[in-house]
Amino acid sequence: MPTSEPIDRRGPAHPEVSVVVPLYWSAATIGQLVERVCAALEERGIAHEVIVVDDGSGDNTWAVVEGLLARFPALRGIRLTRNFGQQAALGVGLEASTGDWVVTMDADLQDDPAYLPLLLDTAKAGADIVLAQWDDPVGSFSARWSSWLFYGFFNRLTGVSLPRGTGTFRIMSRRVVDHFLALPDRTEFFGGMVAWFGFPMTTITVVRHEREHGESGYSFRRRLSLATSALVSFSTIPLKLAAVAGLIVCAFSLLLGVVIVVLRFTGVIVTAGFAGLMVALLFMSGTILLSTGILGFYLGSLIKTTGRRPAGVIAQDTGSSFNRSGSDPG
Ligand code: UDP
Ligand code: MG
Repeated sequence: MPTSEPIDRRGPAHPEVSVVVPLYWSAATIGQLVERVCAALEERGIAHEVIVVDDGSGDNTWAVVEGLLARFPALRGIRLTRNFGQQAALGVGLEASTGDWVVTMDADLQDDPAYLPLLLDTAKAGADIVLAQWDDPVGSFSARWSSWLFYGFFNRLTGVSLPRGTGTFRIMSRRVVDHFLALPDRTEFFGGMVAWFGFPMTTITVVRHEREHGESGYSFRRRLSLATSALVSFSTIPLKLAAVAGLIVCAFSLLLGVVIVVLRFTGVIVTAGFAGLMVALLFMSGTILLSTGILGFYLGSLIKTTGRRPAGVIAQDTGSSFNRSGSDPG
């Protein structure tokens, strides 16, 4: 039975901060990222672990990670069997994390590791979640407007208030992470879930860098699919809209029916037009298909949740200096 109570899965020795980074075709940036993350935390004497989750990259990302292990004892590499998507990779990384605080960030150096101490300080000053909010929107045109649209929709439809211009880059307290891991439907939309708990949340303003290497792992289609599953898992308003649309169409056709009957009997029209028939027919079937489609999204979401599949499957886990002994992938 799914439990809603968080469980502390950690061993006796754990770092103050875990940094979780999903990797996808990240060979070009991962070395620099790990180096800068470790440097930023070491400078302040903050005990840390860096958990990178290779989400089925097709390049030599994993080989690069293995090469970094000797140099960075705080590094733990987890390789998934295939590409499961960023949300899943994040879930696997969070499950492995043992820190009192957990940072999640992107691998492409758009999120600057220099902000890590500030994130931690802000959190310790009294927030369970600190989101990095970029001052200036970056990314492609389609990425920017789809994000703008998404946040607008999300905040309006769900009642969960998610600040615009925030993404994966954030720090969370252990209790937030444990609550998140206890959710049965946690693979849907990490950012929204975390805000949904309602723990004290604040933001810091950061400069987000442009991507220097490679391309975004998100196509427009992928963004759309993420946005759909996020909305579906947080709001039943689309379902209600489908019902309302159905109601309106019914009322309208009833009215039209009455009008046609009246016109027929008063002799204004001799036969109801073929075009009118087609329009009504197409409109009706369109509405029905749309409603069925919306239902389908919810059904799909339900199946994923009740199936309780793991977020992703681990192929290899190097463990970290905090738990090298526990490096079996179970
Ligand atoms: N990512 C992933 N699996 C994927 C796609 C992306 O783990 O299938 C990770 C990627 O390594 C990066 C983060 O998700 O750390 C954000 O991806 P990206 O930079 O491509 O997205 P954008 O910044 O353009 O939104
Ligand atoms: Mg990016």
